[in-house]
Amino acid sequence: MLNIQENVLLAPLTTFQIGGTVRYFADVRSENDIKEAVLWARDRGVRLVVISGGSNLLVPDSGLDALVMRLVGNLYSMSKGKIDAWSGTNLFFLIRAAGVLGFGGWEKLAGIPGTIGGAVRGNAGAFGPEIKNFTTHVRALNVATGEVREFQNHECDFSYRHSFFKDYPEWVITRVHVRLQQVGAAESARAAEETIAEREKRHLQNVRAAGSYFMNPVAPPHIVEMFEKEKGVKSRENRVPAGWLIEKAGMKGASVGDAKASDQHPNYIVNTGEATSDDVLELAENIRRAVREKFGVELSEEAAVLS
Ligand SMILES: Cc1cc2nc3c(=O)[nH]c(=O)nc-3n(C[C@H](O)[C@H](O)[C@H](O)COP(=O)(O)OP(=O)(O)OC[C@H]3O[C@@H](n4cnc5c(N)ncnc54)[C@H](O)[C@@H]3O)c2cc1C
Repeated sequence: MLNIQENVLLAPLTTFQIGGTVRYFADVRSENDIKEAVLWARDRGVRLVVISGGSNLLVPDSGLDALVMRLVGNLYSMSKGKIDAWSGTNLFFLIRAAGVLGFGGWEKLAGIPGTIGGAVRGNAGAFGPEIKNFTTHVRALNVATGEVREFQNHECDFSYRHSFFKDYPEWVITRVHVRLQQVGAAESARAAEETIAEREKRHLQNVRAAGSYFMNPVAPPHIVEMFEKEKGVKSRENRVPAGWLIEKAGMKGASVGDAKASDQHPNYIVNTGEATSDDVLELAENIRRAVREKFGVELSEEAAVLS
């Protein structure tokens, strides 16, 4: 039985710590809960919005006139390195749980906040690997039609920070199946610790942000060449880091109200105090304009901006 709450403040449920109240809210822990929430919303003509870990979200200060269903709960089974996880399961929790049993290979994803469902939806990745490299198949429910389907990896249309589920938000991922290698518990723990240390060094951890605000754009050849020469690294898929463009456009450290383009990682828009969603959106627009004027390159959001 769903517990539908009214007028719930969303800011504390996001890593940005920004956002107003939603009219109706429910935590969901199973496919049946989702179905119940869908019927509840349909009966009352209320819009349905899906969130999970809240680590890639900007919620408006004016709040939402909707039912927000939040996918929560660490629920999974594992056998011989094959994991079948409820999509609301925290990704780092799963990496550690599998590691303790001697299975891994995906420790470079350690420390990415949020759930495994959210990670699949945005094909989350860090330091090379992406969640698509470990996902065998996914189960999803279409909240518009009620259809439930399994998607094999090749049907998920994975690419850089993209999947089928980003284009078709009516499909809510309910279960994620992952295959891991046998690595040994100590080796897995060490690899995860190394990743966290690297993330801390790069100021990627524990900040009031939504991770990288913009995606790394595909850039014209002369800009790719400039980046490769300056940094001494090869561009992947002709993309250049948005953070590099933002810095070159003079926007590192730029701020609007309490929203600031991080000094350490300019593609992180950080809430340094009481930032509002309007502060973030105005700063994002200033950054986008500066990068467009300097490089003729258009930045697009990685973070989901709810409205
Ligand atoms: C400090 C910090 C560091 C970060 N570092 C990284 C990084 O290194 N690499 C990286 O890729 N990302 C990074 N991120 C971004 C974020 O952690 C990932 O995008 C994460 O996968 C989002 O998952 P979530 O559960 O928090 O999704 P949410 O933020 O709750 O939701 C994001 C979007 O996904 C949709 N969604 C969520 N769950 C589902 C589901 N089950 N089915 C369908 N749609 C769903 C929501 O509707 C929403 O549109 C970072 C974020 C922060 C705050």
